Amino acid sequence: MGSAYRGCEHTLPLLALHAALQGRRQDRGGLAGLDRDLNTFTLKASYVIPSPGEVLEGGGVVVRGGKIVDVRSSGKHKASGEEIDLGEAVIIPGLINAHAHLELTDLEGKIPPPKSFTQWLGKMAAFRIEDPNRDLSHAVKRGAQMSLEAGTTTVADIANTNDAFRVLPGLPIRKRVFKELITLDPKKVAAILEEAIRILSEFPRDGLGYVGLSPHAPYTACDKLYRGSALFSKGQDMLLTTHICESEEELEFLSKGTGSLATTLRAFGFLDNWKPPGLSPVTFLESIGAMTSPWLLAHCNYVRDEELPIIKKSGSSVVYCPGSHHYFGHKRHPFPKLLKEGINVALGTDSLASNKSLSMLDEMRFVFANYKEVSPQDILAMATVRGARAVGLEGRIGRLSPDFEADLSVVELPRSGGSVLERLLQPEAQNIFTMVAGKPCYDRYGLFVKEGKRRA
Ligand SMILES: [Zn+2]
Repeated sequence: MGSAYRGCEHTLPLLALHAALQGRRQDRGGLAGLDRDLNTFTLKASYVIPSPGEVLEGGGVVVRGGKIVDVRSSGKHKASGEEIDLGEAVIIPGLINAHAHLELTDLEGKIPPPKSFTQWLGKMAAFRIEDPNRDLSHAVKRGAQMSLEAGTTTVADIANTNDAFRVLPGLPIRKRVFKELITLDPKKVAAILEEAIRILSEFPRDGLGYVGLSPHAPYTACDKLYRGSALFSKGQDMLLTTHICESEEELEFLSKGTGSLATTLRAFGFLDNWKPPGLSPVTFLESIGAMTSPWLLAHCNYVRDEELPIIKKSGSSVVYCPGSHHYFGHKRHPFPKLLKEGINVALGTDSLASNKSLSMLDEMRFVFANYKEVSPQDILAMATVRGARAVGLEGRIGRLSPDFEADLSVVELPRSGGSVLERLLQPEAQNIFTMVAGKPCYDRYGLFVKEGKRRA
């Protein structure tokens, strides 16, 4: 990769210049840059993609006080503050992971692809029941760090335990944390919601933290829990999310009350006095009055055509999780049709209990390789501007534009592979720098390092 940087050596800080002269940049462990405290600076690279349809050559992004103040292409750019040149790379809006469970990060590689979705759920239930007091703080921290290293600046995280609520406020990633709610017993709903609201009210809203409620799924959350969550979120600065239309088992359970999900839940005594609504999942949510609010609908792998107008009318977004979808061997995802219908679709990683990676670039590459009818612009949009809308932060993140938060990712490009966007989606493209609110959170080559002050 050495010669790719020859054109920009004169502007690289000394440490990086030294590495470039040796023919390669040095990997500095990723976190060295956190020492640097700059208020105003200009990030430069071979390309800047401020939004999916725009590619600027030799551009720069000016950051002041954690916000973007200017984005310019080469020549038009007037330097502001110290210039940091990131070389043969592209500066893109920070990637937005619209569906994750960071607390499950330590299950990486531990659950092989199951025979059925219900079998996998059984394994997850066993993990929870085996040690309900297990401390998942380490997993949350590790998941957040892996995300930052992969160029993710915002994560929509579903928290079943309270560890994420305790740990995430101290971490530099932007986050929308959802309290997961589970009960099929209407009598328990008031107490569960009360406790959830207490937890959310204590979560610091420091500009990086946002909250939400997540009734788990139509087979684990009763209609009163869905309605109560929707009612409470109205007028609050919070969002709703749920897993929905994820498996064929879920569809059978709701329409007929049969199948492996019904058998398992009945064995645990969860379905006493329960009758199947005889509806598809989104139609069911509408029938109980829950679709009067916009939802972040995770998966929708088996959503039906008649459900699409309900999703669109409610202003809800859909999150497609390519790696997790592939792990379960689901049928081809209908998201290209959803996009055509005008529904907002974002991308998510889900957790390492059903995916190999927490990298949004990996998810984007999967889509690029498997859905030829979807343009690279649409793929980048799903991970940025559409993701921003999905997590309720449209107009603040998802684009590189004046007054937007300085959340960005810098990806080193392979020298060939088509257009800049197509090169971004090649397996060789690697995130080298991640910034959230103007603060470097991952800095592979130590470009933000002050001379002699690099962290060990
Ligand atoms: Zn999930």
